[in-house]
Formats: sequence, structure tokens, C-alpha cells
Amino acid sequence: MSEPILKVEHIQAKYGDFLAVSDASMEVPAQQVVSLIGANGAGKSTMMDCVAGVHTPTSGKVFFKGEDITGLPAHEIVTRGLCLVPQGSRCFVRMSVEDNLIMGSFPKAARAHMKDSLDRVYELFPVLKEKRNDASGSLSGGQRQMVAIGRALMTRPELILFDEISLGLAPTIIKDIYARIKQINQEGMSVVLVEQDVKRSRKASESCFVMLKGRVVLSGPSQELSEEAIKNAYFGI
Ligand code: ATP
Repeated sequence: MSEPILKVEHIQAKYGDFLAVSDASMEVPAQQVVSLIGANGAGKSTMMDCVAGVHTPTSGKVFFKGEDITGLPAHEIVTRGLCLVPQGSRCFVRMSVEDNLIMGSFPKAARAHMKDSLDRVYELFPVLKEKRNDASGSLSGGQRQMVAIGRALMTRPELILFDEISLGLAPTIIKDIYARIKQINQEGMSVVLVEQDVKRSRKASESCFVMLKGRVVLSGPSQELSEEAIKNAYFGI
């Protein structure tokens, strides 16, 4: 197995006094796809927010490429090569598709490759090229999700975290987006897929981590964990 690009060690995270993540650890081997699975409210987004610097954990450590990034601000973490696509396909709705994408190339190293990155995003999602001058607010939900993914790719990440990108999308769009993620991974990018869908995430990943009530309760290679074992952990059976 390759060296982990990401190591999360015993993260604990709160909102005020409420303990949303009590003890969560995970590892992402370089160039692999790892799933983080769990029901509504299990703590998946909070954990990813802690990794990406959007939320500060109360204890625990996050290591990216061997360096301690715990508590660093999100923009600094992006600059180091780790980018989160947050839940809800967030776009600047009044801005054009292309301007939304260009915003992703804010890290200095990414700016130098902006044109190539933009071409690559348009190659992955040709519909965005067609609609490059349209306001993002006029796009469908799936297309907006593509913009959010494209903007993350513009930062030129080595590790990308996708937080429930399939939420609310039609099955054909989900299939298409997952095919693009596979392609991105095959080109060398490490991926974390946060999902509620056990079948889809198990199939798409090399290893799985299952969260329940703020804890990682099961983990292992996706092929070695049965769908039933994952579902039992997911529901706490
Ligand atoms: P979902 O799939 O619904 O996004 P999740 O597994 O990602 O769920 P989180 O969003 O991390 O779970 O939420 C974990 C817990 O923290 C839940 O009980 C949720 O209600 C709570 N929570 C999340 N965000 C906040 C917040 N901003 N303020 C207070 N509580 C929050």
C-alpha cells in the first residue's frame, strides 16, 4: 500500500457544547479513492471541514503529506494541495461559469497554470464550455455541481474531498460525475468521497470508513467489507 497522503488522528469537534465528532481517525493512501460513509448527522461533513480548515477541531491531528495542518486556515490548506468540494454545489450565482472557475486558481502555483486547468475542466465537463459565459445561477443542479468540482480542480489539488456531491441529482448525472471522478483519480489525484449511499461508495472506492454518531466505527478495504457489514455499522446494528 502506498504512503498515506492524509492522516486524521482522533479528531474531536464541537459546535458550542455539542460534540459532533467524538473520535474519528482515517487514512487516505496516495492516489486512492476512499469513502467516508454515514447517515445524516453522523459527523462526516464536520470531519471533512476539520480536515479542510473550515472548522477547527477541539483535539486530534490532521497530517497532509506528512505535515501537521491541524487548525491551519482553509486558504493555506488549499495552497498546500488539499481542496474540499462542500455540500450543496455552492457557486457565485451572478457570476459567469468561467469566472466561477477562474476563482479557483487563486493559489499562486495554480494561477501560473490557469489556462491549462481551465481547458482540462472544459474537457472533463464540455457542457461548462458551452455555458462558459452564462450566469451560474441559470444552470441546472448537476451543472452547478460540475462548476463546484471544476473550481476545486482549478486549485490543482493533490487530494480532493467531495462532500455528498450526488445529493439531489438525477441518477444519470451522478453516473457521469462519478465517471469523471474516476478519470481524475486515474490521472493521479487522491480522492475522498463522502456519501450516504453504501452501494455506490463501496463500488467507487478502494477503502471505506463508516461513521456513526461522531465516531468511525468500521473501516477496511472496500472489497473485503460486505455491503451488509457496512450497512450494519451505518445503522449501528
Ligand atoms: P449530513 O449527511 O446530513 O450532512 P453529516 O454526517 O455530514 O450529516 P454533520 O453535518 O457533520 O453530519 O453533523 C454532525 C452533527 O453536528 C449533527 O448532529 C448536526 O446536527 C450537527 N451540526 C452540524 N453543523 C452544525 C452547526 N453549524 N451548528 C450546530 N450543530 C451542527
